[in-house]
Amino acid sequence: MGYIIHYDICALVIYAITGVVFYFKKRIPCNKNKVFGILVGDSALSTVLDILSVFSTGEWGIGLKIFFHTAYYFTHNLIPFLFVIYILFLTDGYKEMSALFKSFLYTPMIVDLLLVITTPVTHFIIYVDSQGGYHRGTLQPFTYIVAIYYLIFGIVYAMGNRSMLSRQVVTSITAFISMTVVAVIVQMINKLLLVECFAASVCMLLIMFTLQSQDDMIDQGTKMLNWSSFVNRCSIKYASASDFTLLLIRIPDFKMFMKTFGGRFSNSLLRSFSDYLYNFVNLGDGFYLEDECFALMFPKDSEKVGETYRAIRKKLSENWNIGTVDTLITACFMRIDCPDDVDNADMLVDFIEQFKHREPETERLLHATDINFYDSKRRSEVENAIDKALDNRGFEVYYQPIYSSSRNKIVSCEALVRLKDEKLGFIPPQEFIPIAEENGKILKIGKYVFEEACRFIKKGVGTSLGIEYVQVNLSVVQCMQSDLVEQLLSIMDRYKVDPSSICLEVTETAAVYTPHIMEKNIKTLSDYGVKFALDDYGTGYSNMTYLLSLPFRFIKLEKEIVWECFKSEKAHIAIESTVAMIKKLNMQIVAEGIEDKHQLDTLLGMGCDFIQGYYFSKPVPEKDFIEVLKKNNTQAVTV
Ligand code: C2E
Ligand code: CA
Repeated sequence: MGYIIHYDICALVIYAITGVVFYFKKRIPCNKNKVFGILVGDSALSTVLDILSVFSTGEWGIGLKIFFHTAYYFTHNLIPFLFVIYILFLTDGYKEMSALFKSFLYTPMIVDLLLVITTPVTHFIIYVDSQGGYHRGTLQPFTYIVAIYYLIFGIVYAMGNRSMLSRQVVTSITAFISMTVVAVIVQMINKLLLVECFAASVCMLLIMFTLQSQDDMIDQGTKMLNWSSFVNRCSIKYASASDFTLLLIRIPDFKMFMKTFGGRFSNSLLRSFSDYLYNFVNLGDGFYLEDECFALMFPKDSEKVGETYRAIRKKLSENWNIGTVDTLITACFMRIDCPDDVDNADMLVDFIEQFKHREPETERLLHATDINFYDSKRRSEVENAIDKALDNRGFEVYYQPIYSSSRNKIVSCEALVRLKDEKLGFIPPQEFIPIAEENGKILKIGKYVFEEACRFIKKGVGTSLGIEYVQVNLSVVQCMQSDLVEQLLSIMDRYKVDPSSICLEVTETAAVYTPHIMEKNIKTLSDYGVKFALDDYGTGYSNMTYLLSLPFRFIKLEKEIVWECFKSEKAHIAIESTVAMIKKLNMQIVAEGIEDKHQLDTLLGMGCDFIQGYYFSKPVPEKDFIEVLKKNNTQAVTV
């Protein structure tokens, strides 16, 4: 016999480890994983058959020997082919194959396998003589040619689609190919040294721990593919120019469920919802994109998108049962045809972020074109404009007067930042402030506005015309800085500004979450004499503990809330009682957005202490603001 089978035995051990780990690992049963499973199974079987071929002697019967050898060739020759199929699934290239590509892919394998199957009769590949002697047939080198063909095919395909493969994948492909080539050469030189199966087993193990490592691809709560695998998948799709359609589903009430029923219930709800979604797509096409948002991926223009939407909608019209609780779930849906609606993967990510955070619209299936998409190009232009303005002192601070009903004059003003860019023109604060908050530039902007306000106070013109304090907006990001107090105190000190001439406005959204550091900052500054106003009151939070625990002196009614008052009697009653309640708590009310006399009279009639709005003046540059003050405050304001 003389064959050295130790390597085959080692290969079997390695396959056993690979098989066990692969079987017990959490996996998404997508095609890629199925092919990997088949690849490992086939390679392990070929190793067993290799050993059996070696051991099958004359006593086993010639028929059996022929069978083992033929079966070994069959399974062994399949390995490079299956590996190419695996690479195709990795790059999503399997679905988009042309007929020509398919013929290049399948023909050599079909011919090879036909030759192997018929070899007991034709003796083309191998044959066993009547004494049980094993011989290679005339066409046996063809099987090597086919193997080399697939290895080259794999290299060429992988290199051609390099952009879609991570470095890990390229490394694994290179390792697989080089190990196989080395093993084939070794075995060709020394026919008795059976190392091919061993090389293949090591490669499978390598793939197992690199390409197949998926723990970080699955969202643990929903067991769906997570956000990063979604982004990865879409990038591959865009790079391979393969069209697809997404159905996004978001459960806007989820946070409410979380608060009302607790985390356990909410997680079960997410889980049962994701299980339900798998009725419509394969496991590899369902994603959980965080923030209670799911995505289902379909081939482009698939009728299934509409059907799925209608089915989920119907299902949601019934109660959803979680344990002992029955509840109704509402959802927002959006369809995105890629790449028609969104040009590239980066834009898609921005797009989905916007879908996640926009006002929920639950009545219909939104199409991507329904959203006024704020693209990443505009965003980076705005980011550049912010940077430029910070470098060249391009921001400006405008002032808007605040009228006091008890003193019948303008006693304060709000400092509002303005950004005008050479290229983009005027950029509204609603647009650039959130961007600056996200990238941290708000800290510099906030500092600049605060310094400007101090400089204005120090000049004394405003004060001489009746301004007692200036209101400055404080972003939530600023509120959470551990050195906020020192920073603001040192600026006030530099400009010799008394803390009581500053009122900082903190939004209700920020106050609701009140992280510890923010509470500390507010309380310390307040102890130094800085006033605080709760900005945008009424934007939808019912929890009022922060109203009582933080030292707010003023509550600013958001302009949309004020305007509601004139749209419905009920809103009018609600606002009137809110004003009364706040006054009882010994806080003063500022009504924003007052544009005409009727609004002014109504809000004053309700008992508001201060009024801010276009009725008195829009926010204007400092020079114009002084004129507004001169006009209004040198004589009693006529309201
Ligand atoms: P806000 O703090 O609620 O500021 C009031 C906004 O309402 C200002 O918009 C003001 O121009 C507008 N407004 C006041 N009265 C009326 C009115 O009668 N009618 C109408 N239609 N609008 C009125 P602006 O200046 O565009 O600022 C928008 C938001 O940007 C501000 O809302 C604030 O959240 C933010 N912002 C502005 N400046 C700063 C700043 O220096 N720092 C920070 N962190 N945020 C700022
Ligand atoms: Ca404000």
